[in-house]
Amino acid sequence: MRGKTALVCGAGGFIGSHLVQRLKHEGLWVRGVDLKFPDYEESAADEFVIGDLRSQSVCEQVIDGRFDEVYQLAADMGGAGYIFTGEHDADIIHNSATINLNVAGFSRLRHIDRIFYSSSACIYPAYNQEDPDNPNCRESSAYPAAPDSEYGWEKLISERLFLAYNRNHGMTNRIARYHNIFGPCGSWEGGKEKAPAAICRKVAMASSGGEIEIWGDGLQTRSFLYVDECIEGTTRLTRSDFQGPVNIGSDEMVSINTLVDMVCDIAGKRLHKRHIPGPTGVRGRNSDNRLIEEKLGWRPSQSLTIGLEKTYEWIERQLMRKAA
Ligand code: NAD
Repeated sequence: MRGKTALVCGAGGFIGSHLVQRLKHEGLWVRGVDLKFPDYEESAADEFVIGDLRSQSVCEQVIDGRFDEVYQLAADMGGAGYIFTGEHDADIIHNSATINLNVAGFSRLRHIDRIFYSSSACIYPAYNQEDPDNPNCRESSAYPAAPDSEYGWEKLISERLFLAYNRNHGMTNRIARYHNIFGPCGSWEGGKEKAPAAICRKVAMASSGGEIEIWGDGLQTRSFLYVDECIEGTTRLTRSDFQGPVNIGSDEMVSINTLVDMVCDIAGKRLHKRHIPGPTGVRGRNSDNRLIEEKLGWRPSQSLTIGLEKTYEWIERQLMRKAA
């Protein structure tokens, strides 16, 4: 007899693979689905289906009965080098929207009443994020909508999709807006990596006294959440009686220049920053954690340095493995 069950869509990805590990640790029976297996470690899932969730027949096959928990993390996504250049806009909207429509529709057919959906801080209006020292990312500030990327627009419409299923079909879907999640086993090279991983890689590859290239002037601000705390917030929200949308992010805001300095300190290197043109996104972004604290009685609290130390060490190991 299977006990509590979970379906993780996007289980081959960065956050999905960590989530599967956590659910297995808690004793759930887990089915993972993705286009690919996890890149760096074997999946902990009981069953892993390689399949394309844009396909209705694949969705019908993997959502074949009731699951106690469904986590919908599958998306066509990447860091600034992927979502802000404009070159992938049509794919990003088409692929992610099709996945979300399919997962919502087939879950309802199977009488699944709760899906967790991973939205993003990218839904927040660009006009509230022009001041790097004072961005407004309060959940209620999402409208009038003006995300700065098609990725953000798709996330916003899919939030509305899952909320509409709550209203019209009696579901109890949950929505989180993740803010820059980072940690071991995430993309760290190849174009889809995000700032912390890219900076760790560049610092690890540089010799002390050398140079590091940074996109833009480095004065743009962000906050970064270590993946373990993201998973903690995700499972807490999924099992709570609050539907969201709610931010899951850190509120320790730093400039990209400061992030580089922090990684250099961890590595024990001194590097000269060379600022070059590149996609940078909004000028400032920070997680506003008042709502999550009010509704869940919990908020992320780990310092950025601790997560960066673990991530730097992991990326250094990947580089050594590659060189061997
Ligand atoms: P990721 O790219 O590592 O994981 C997404 C996974 O979805 C990938 O493994 C990919 O293969 C899979 N996928 C894509 N298209 C698919 C398809 N058609 N069928 C089946 N699987 C498919 O990204 P992640 O960082 O783990 O992000 C997980 C979720 O969280 C995504 O929805 C992302 O938009 C959201 N999010 C992430 C961050 C972050 O900082 N990492 C921030 C905001 C929101």
